[in-house]
Amino acid sequence: MDNSTLVKRSLQAVWHPCTQMKHHEFVPLLPISRAEGVWLYDLEGKRYLDGVSSWWVNLFGHSHPHIKAALVAQINQLDHVMLAGFTHQPVVELSEKLGTLTGLGHAFYASDGASATEIALKMSAHYWRNTGQPEKCRFVGLAGGYHGETVGALAVTDIALFREAYAPLVRLAATVPSPDSRAAMTGESPADVATRAASALQAWLEQHHASTAALILEPLVQCAAGMAMHDASYLQQVRLLCDRYQVHLVVDEIATGFGRTGSMFAHQQAGILPDFICLSKGLTGGTLPLSAVLTTDTVYEAFYDDQLARGFLHSHSYTGNPLACSVALATLELFEQGQVLDKNLRLAGTLTQAFAPLTQHARINNARQLGMIWAWDVSGVSPSFSHRYHQHAMAHGVLLRPIGNTIYAMPPYVMNEETSAHLARGALLALEATLAEEKRLG
Ligand SMILES: *Cc1c(COP(=O)(O)O)cnc(C)c1O
Repeated sequence: MDNSTLVKRSLQAVWHPCTQMKHHEFVPLLPISRAEGVWLYDLEGKRYLDGVSSWWVNLFGHSHPHIKAALVAQINQLDHVMLAGFTHQPVVELSEKLGTLTGLGHAFYASDGASATEIALKMSAHYWRNTGQPEKCRFVGLAGGYHGETVGALAVTDIALFREAYAPLVRLAATVPSPDSRAAMTGESPADVATRAASALQAWLEQHHASTAALILEPLVQCAAGMAMHDASYLQQVRLLCDRYQVHLVVDEIATGFGRTGSMFAHQQAGILPDFICLSKGLTGGTLPLSAVLTTDTVYEAFYDDQLARGFLHSHSYTGNPLACSVALATLELFEQGQVLDKNLRLAGTLTQAFAPLTQHARINNARQLGMIWAWDVSGVSPSFSHRYHQHAMAHGVLLRPIGNTIYAMPPYVMNEETSAHLARGALLALEATLAEEKRLG
């Protein structure tokens, strides 16, 4: 099968995500035949470095032998069984391990991040109903927050482009100001911005706590907002406010979890414990769809009752799929065996150094980095910057897809000197090519 035939058939038969399909009249669709380590290979054998970990899911490179072996062993044993009324070893072991890692428990599973968001929101509101405060059923999120795109999750996703067309379907949550460090006024530190945002949250909670079930946020990095980073002190202040006003704190670690921000989970850098945690993306090392929500004993106990309707009756057909659980376990084993967080610290140093020429480019502002996430804002670009940059990056053998005018890199944890240099060179050359093209086109 050649490239152009497969592209034609795809455009006929497949509706691609996050895409205006008409763009493919002039932006090529790229068939990928295989992937290994940090590389994606097209049908002609040309390779691209996966600089965004395939939408932030991949941790240890593609086709990792340990993860592959776990998947093969599991499919030879048990492919799937419904999780209502049944259980199995992979789901039990994974739940125990996630419990140990998060300090929470009672893992509830689904297959994608948006469903995890919905589960956490439903559990929170149902908790208040079960404890005699059914009026606590509204939610609050941060400006620019992203928690998925199903109708329920869109309620707390504050990104107009994803939400506008569906506004009539959505029961909108309130939004409070983001603690985004870039909002610093002259003389303000990131901690000052955090305190200002926390004060706004306090003012809002003071008025609305009686009708509010939960605050949901992405700790430390609002990724979809363009890698907006904030000071960890914000989370400490938020925890105190949620306690004072009796509102659950839901941390959405779907993108930030599993070492991405330098600690196993981002909120741990603030030394706080949330009431709910949402996990997905890196949970399976980027191989199979799986998400989980963990919560406190207090929440769990409010559902434990003789009455059926006081239980959490939510379900998905593939809840706790053994194949997905077994690759998640294999992923956690790689963390246990590999001193991954320590190694990433050194790797991040290598990458930051490799990115220095990009960081110092005259058109770059707000260069920022946390753990294995780098981001740069480019000044004075056109609305098509992101598409154009993506094309130029691909031409230089790297997969990078800016968000608006923000270039970012979120590579797998198995980069080395050579691949870091390749990624950084591609990122810089793509910037120069895109800026030259924009200048030429006026
Ligand atoms: C990706 C993401 C989601 C949604 O996950 P899906 O699997 O795409 O539904 C939710 N929250 C955050 C923070 C994310 O990055």
